[in-house]
Amino acid sequence: MIQPIQRAAVIGSGVMGAAIAAHLAGAGIRCLLLDLVPAQLTEAEAQKGLTLEHPAVRNRLAVNAITRLKKTKPAPLYSEAFAERITPGNLEDDLPKLADVDWIIEVVVERLDVKQELFGRIEGVWKPGTIVSSNTSGISINDMVASCGEEFKRHFLGTHFFNPPRYMKLLEIIPGATTDPEIVSYMHEFCERRLGKGVVVAKDTPNFIANRIGTYGLLVTLRNMLEMGYTIEEVDAVTGPALGRPKSATFRTLDLVGLDTFVHVAANVHGQTAATAEKDVFSAPDVLNRMVELGWIGEKQGQGFYKKV
Ligand code: NAD
Repeated sequence: MIQPIQRAAVIGSGVMGAAIAAHLAGAGIRCLLLDLVPAQLTEAEAQKGLTLEHPAVRNRLAVNAITRLKKTKPAPLYSEAFAERITPGNLEDDLPKLADVDWIIEVVVERLDVKQELFGRIEGVWKPGTIVSSNTSGISINDMVASCGEEFKRHFLGTHFFNPPRYMKLLEIIPGATTDPEIVSYMHEFCERRLGKGVVVAKDTPNFIANRIGTYGLLVTLRNMLEMGYTIEEVDAVTGPALGRPKSATFRTLDLVGLDTFVHVAANVHGQTAATAEKDVFSAPDVLNRMVELGWIGEKQGQGFYKKV
């Protein structure tokens, strides 16, 4: 029996998780926003005499994400007041609360091992009827829940939102090999009618459709820039405003996505393709890896191809 979605839980409060929670809140859906418990106190927390056991510290990542949502422009929230529909928390203390929601969306770092471990934990508290999905950019839906039980797998699928979720209409739905077709059609209709998305149902192939094509295009453009000596500004000028895409030029897009996430997404296709020419395209150029090493991972850190001033 499918539970109509009234309450949701978003796990991972980074670039996408926080913005997805905001989109759900805008659609009138109450949601939990959960992240990890920080391993260390900040200076400010230590000065206030807080300990790692204090709820303000334990929920810090999700709380900060909600604060960010209120400040970010263009606004991820339809109204600041809708932020009250989002309850911040952490995975250690709030895991049992996942039994009380109708839809659990995983939006953590793009790594198969991390996602697999998380789905194992979620399954431990999950109740049949609750839909579970991943916002992965392209990791195999079947692989992520390979060790989970059949009933859990029946309720599991990919729901791939695009960045920023408030403005990007596209949403890919990716059924796994054993996802219940009724759940696929329920989510198709729910995401279109309630969330205002334009749904494309994709097969469980590496990076699905949009990121397979999109990642290819971004990497070829980056290589061309390096080989031909184009500047970042030149490439963005001809791949952005001149094409009627004011905000989605090549390097601005990479900064928005996060270079760390992009490197994982490229590696996902690289690892799953046998053709040499394809492998060459999907191996991230050194400059990208170096930028990630330096922590220049894009807007979320204030520095990527562009610097936030
Ligand atoms: P991010 O790095 O901004 O955020 C990831 C968040 O997950 C962090 O807050 C981190 O603390 C948390 N996290 C890490 N491990 C965790 C765990 N085990 N349990 C709970 N929380 C954990 O990443 P992002 O850009 O938001 O990407 C998240 C997912 O969405 C990835 O699968 C990514 O491929 C996908 N995605 C990203 C974009 C994009 O443009 N950035 C677009 C579509 C899909």
